[in-house]
Amino acid sequence: MNKKVTYLIVGQGLAGTWLSYYLSQQEISFVIVNSASQAAASKVASGVINPVTGRRIVQTWIIEEVLPFSVAAYNSMQEMLNTTLIQKTPVVLIHPSEQMKESFEYRLHHDNVYLQTIHEEISLSNFNTPFGTGMIDSCYWIDLNKMLSQWKQLQIEKENYITDDFELNDVTITNENVCWKNITANKIIFCDGVNAFNNPYFNTLPFAPNKGEALIVEIKNLSPHFIYKSNITIVPWKADLFWVGSNYEWDFDNLHPSESFKQKMIEALNQLLTFPYEIKDHLVGLRPANKERRPFVGYHPIYKNVGIINGLGTKGCSLAPFFAAQLMAHDLNGAPIHPEASLSRFNELLSKNSLS
Ligand SMILES: Cc1cc2nc3c(=O)[nH]c(=O)nc-3n(C[C@H](O)[C@H](O)[C@H](O)COP(=O)(O)OP(=O)(O)OC[C@H]3O[C@@H](n4cnc5c(N)ncnc54)[C@H](O)[C@@H]3O)c2cc1C
Repeated sequence: MNKKVTYLIVGQGLAGTWLSYYLSQQEISFVIVNSASQAAASKVASGVINPVTGRRIVQTWIIEEVLPFSVAAYNSMQEMLNTTLIQKTPVVLIHPSEQMKESFEYRLHHDNVYLQTIHEEISLSNFNTPFGTGMIDSCYWIDLNKMLSQWKQLQIEKENYITDDFELNDVTITNENVCWKNITANKIIFCDGVNAFNNPYFNTLPFAPNKGEALIVEIKNLSPHFIYKSNITIVPWKADLFWVGSNYEWDFDNLHPSESFKQKMIEALNQLLTFPYEIKDHLVGLRPANKERRPFVGYHPIYKNVGIINGLGTKGCSLAPFFAAQLMAHDLNGAPIHPEASLSRFNELLSKNSLS
């Protein structure tokens, strides 16, 4: 049976989930096509929203706006799905070196919004802390796997979801509409993560995929109410399981879990913890990153019904709801997309790419 919708969304990671969420809030029709075989960064991500970053512990890009917006978004999504998706989970910093301790202490007293000293009631007796500790407040943990699977289930029930591999050969795009198999849509939005890097509509964008790995480790008796960050990060995952990672590889020749990463994590865990632990799994993903470290949000300058939400890099949890909402507001009432994220900054580059 043929189906007519306003939006066809390719991909249901964080970007596709949040775009379809805002469409459903506005009662605008859509279909999501998501592949069962293509990898999703959102499924291996630790799900952390952390407002500070780097060795200098500075605030992340536009976090003052993005943090309250995203926290409210996850709260409304969890209310709609009648489950728990977001938890305030402070980051306990276990300084890995004298230099990081000094960085923390400097930042604690200069332009500080999110850093604190550790409360006395947090027990770190099972950690080695030779360089001292600190804390980042206003951090959140999102249960991404629960969110993705429950949203998928709801959209299957509403007949808004197709499990399939979207291929450009199967689609006809004209100024009037987009026809893919038995679906006719007004617009198509690519939310397909690193797969977009090969999409002829967008492959001239400065994409730079980044490989990241994590171990899933069982650690009994470790409080799941905190994220622990040293030269590795330990994040609550489920029950006694913790996510341990990660690395940021710009040069890689395969997507396999690497023995060198595993050994590095074991060494770091042995240094950090006096708890016993057991490795249960080893995950790998590709972050849809780019050279500018800014998202790509908006429409192609020539093919005006072909859009994208991509380039979420290491910050998909906070940026996806924020920029999906901006794309929605842009479509509904012409509101501007943040100039550093708007695809229009690449109009000249994308205009040269006529696909003819
Ligand atoms: C190890 C690791 C840890 C991370 N930790 C964090 C973190 O703690 N916090 C944070 O904010 N971010 C984190 N990230 C980054 C985060 O995962 C990404 O920013 C985010 O998931 C990107 O979402 P996306 O929807 O753009 O892409 P994806 O999650 O990759 O989703 C793309 C979707 O498109 C589908 N798809 C692709 N091609 C096709 C096709 N041809 N047809 C149909 N469907 C298709 C895929 O199956 C997938 O479901 C981490 C990433 C990694 C790798």
